[in-house]
Amino acid sequence: MIIAANFKTNKTRAQTRDYMDEVNGFIRSENIKSEIMVFPPLTAFDNFGQGATLGAQNAYAVENGAFTGEIGLDQLKEFGIKTILLGHSERRHILGETQEEISFKFAYFQSLGYQIVYCIGEQLETRKAGKTALMRYIETQLVGIDMEYENLVVAYEPVWAIGTGLVPSNEDIKSIHADLRAKTSRPLLYGGSVKVSNMKEIVEIDNVDGVLVGGASLYAGNFCEMIKIAEEA
Ligand code: PEP
Repeated sequence: MIIAANFKTNKTRAQTRDYMDEVNGFIRSENIKSEIMVFPPLTAFDNFGQGATLGAQNAYAVENGAFTGEIGLDQLKEFGIKTILLGHSERRHILGETQEEISFKFAYFQSLGYQIVYCIGEQLETRKAGKTALMRYIETQLVGIDMEYENLVVAYEPVWAIGTGLVPSNEDIKSIHADLRAKTSRPLLYGGSVKVSNMKEIVEIDNVDGVLVGGASLYAGNFCEMIKIAEEA
């Protein structure tokens, strides 16, 4: 199982330190075998010791240079970061990243051996158009992506389920993950309003190898509970 926390634009450096101390302490004391990832805001990057893998929510496909407001490889290397989230719906739909830009970043970080958590997912109108339209849309998010990259983790996150409290039915998740399984042998995460109360049923769905959690991951206690549930599933 892979359980990943995406803080987005939440938490300060000090709050992240407290969180990581609690979560890493839990991972060690409970001897957690699952892979735990945390994606804090970049201002909170630090060395947190043994436990969760620290990842970047975003970076520019460059070592360093004149790209105001961006960070590159040098800044990631300083903290030993070798894991990156790419294609998140907020970067696609709010910040306007195109598939071309995302696949360029993908190729860059793949060439460096980074672990890439690659997010895909449809918006509500596509969902309403039915499964065939949905999978056709997903295909457009796979253009330029090496689906058999050895350090790839795919996160299926329906946009309409992110931060809304809405979750597809277990049958829908099962059916979409089965289709995704035909496209990759790499781990498949589900993301979108995962919380303590629905964690068990979601991680027990066929071809769900873990979860990517936003809002519900922000409280270390909640996140630890979710880790425990996944570990025991
Ligand atoms: C996310 O943004 O990746 C996410 C899954 O958010 P939430 O859990 O809040 O729906």
